[in-house]
Amino acid sequence: MLAVTPATPLRRISRIAAERRRCASRPPIWPVKSVVILSARVPQIWLPVVARRIRGGASLVVRGVSGALLDLIAPPRCLACGQLQEESHARIDWCEACRAELVPPSLRVCLRCATPLAAETVGIPAAQDCPVCRDERWAFESVVARGVYRGVLRQLLLEAKHPQGAAAARGLGRLLAGSVRERWPGELSPLVVPLPMHWRRRLNRRINSAECLAEGLAEGLATRATPVLWRRRATRQQTAVAPSSRAANVRGAFAVRSGAALTGRTVLLVDDVLTTGSSCSAAAQALRGAGAARVVAVVAARRVAPG
Ligand SMILES: [Zn+2]
Ligand SMILES: [Zn+2]
Repeated sequence: MLAVTPATPLRRISRIAAERRRCASRPPIWPVKSVVILSARVPQIWLPVVARRIRGGASLVVRGVSGALLDLIAPPRCLACGQLQEESHARIDWCEACRAELVPPSLRVCLRCATPLAAETVGIPAAQDCPVCRDERWAFESVVARGVYRGVLRQLLLEAKHPQGAAAARGLGRLLAGSVRERWPGELSPLVVPLPMHWRRRLNRRINSAECLAEGLAEGLATRATPVLWRRRATRQQTAVAPSSRAANVRGAFAVRSGAALTGRTVLLVDDVLTTGSSCSAAAQALRGAGAARVVAVVAARRVAPG
């Protein structure tokens, strides 16, 4: 209803009425097609998450009652190739073949930058640094990576740039928890912090794979991901920038949210791929500046130069 008071001039009343007629004839902000697409995607994205939470739930009663029903609605499948898993009611992320590729038997890497060691160094358990990272001055202490950016790992990380790849990214995060525990078998009690995207890119993509990886890692370490970082400005994508200009591209791009308690903490900074280390280093610098005692970059994959 148009509110008309004795003091409202007639010209203004007709202008308001015309504006309201114009608004009524506009299409709704959420067209029906978008709502249908969105509602079709919600179960596709969330059902595996809900199924996993219930399957992995502590209560035997909940697991027992819901297990058979869940197997009917969302049968457990390999997160990489989609193969149906025979063992039901269990927390199985990967089939045997995919697991063999994602968890190679003895990957010998540089402890500082996660580059695989050259063949002639096999036999030495690990190296504190290597020719690739010796001259680097990163703000993070070292890198933990699940593997080299290729094969199944590369395919999963490409899929994790879209919402339908979220479940696999969380599965990779849980695998990373195993890598972290291998490196530091004792009590670590870290803060798990995802590398943030700029809000505009996050809105556009509808997913930040670093967040999904951090959620899986935190779940595997029995803690919660803590998104204390934010991007102060939109930077060009690192893959579109020459390696020599990447540090300048992200310098000062990250900041710590006010009120974050980082003093003396160990931070596991999570990202999908580490190439030059510039983004993680810029983020680690912000974390160190806010009082973090040490920052370790935990990434799904290490991209290494061919050859
Ligand atoms: Zn598989
Ligand atoms: Zn190295």
